[in-house]
Amino acid sequence: MFFHAHPDDEALLTAGTMALLAAEGHRVVLVVATAGERGLADDVAGLGAVRTAELHASAAVLGCARVVFLGYGDSGVDGDMPGGFAGASVAVAAGELAEILRQEDADLLTVYDPAGGYGHPDHVQVHRVGTMAARLAGTPVVLEATVDRDLLLRVLRPLRRWGLLPRAVDVGALARAYAGRDEITHRVRVRRHAGAKRAALAAHASQATGGDTVRTLRALLGLPAPLFRYALGTEYFVRRDVAPGSHLAHPLDAWPDRVRVAADG
Ligand SMILES: [Zn+2]
Repeated sequence: MFFHAHPDDEALLTAGTMALLAAEGHRVVLVVATAGERGLADDVAGLGAVRTAELHASAAVLGCARVVFLGYGDSGVDGDMPGGFAGASVAVAAGELAEILRQEDADLLTVYDPAGGYGHPDHVQVHRVGTMAARLAGTPVVLEATVDRDLLLRVLRPLRRWGLLPRAVDVGALARAYAGRDEITHRVRVRRHAGAKRAALAAHASQATGGDTVRTLRALLGLPAPLFRYALGTEYFVRRDVAPGSHLAHPLDAWPDRVRVAADG
């Protein structure tokens, strides 16, 4: 089960891993906290409905068996929207998610790192709610979807020096975002599923157009296919109950160890 804050987060962070698991015959379930109605767009009426449809299209491309919206409001980047997910009770939302984990008898739940990646309040809340839900439901494997921050900075710093990076990208703030290389436990190679990942990103058309702020999606979709496979061909996860810096290649690697520990204990 993949737990995300807004439609398009699944495409950016875990689409390749979802496509990989679905191709291996696993039942892949996507749970999204909000409809992302405060997302980037130029005046799209009924943005929530548009983004809901986009999420279903993305999920279909990735081979998801079920899509669930928890129905919370999008808190916006400042996290100040009344009724937003960021301000919701962690215990209540975790109870709702735990119920779905139990229905599915899920082996695995993905959440975000404690920083919520780049720090969106709804993403921080995904970490809190997801980790509590997994505890409540006894889900054996919890992976924090993240990005290799060291790699990200190595790419962005020269771009900033050469004046190729939009001013809106705060490289200093990214030094505290996502996870450092030595924390990452899983590097899942998803190049073989780059086509599905690209199609999932493209399904979120409302987030790729308009305005003058940075449009990550448009930039990614503009990459030539070989560069796209290179840039987005690995997905990164942190599992807190295996040694930091482990080099695991599959999302379910090392999970029988955990079962043995549970049986012994
Ligand atoms: Zn998001």
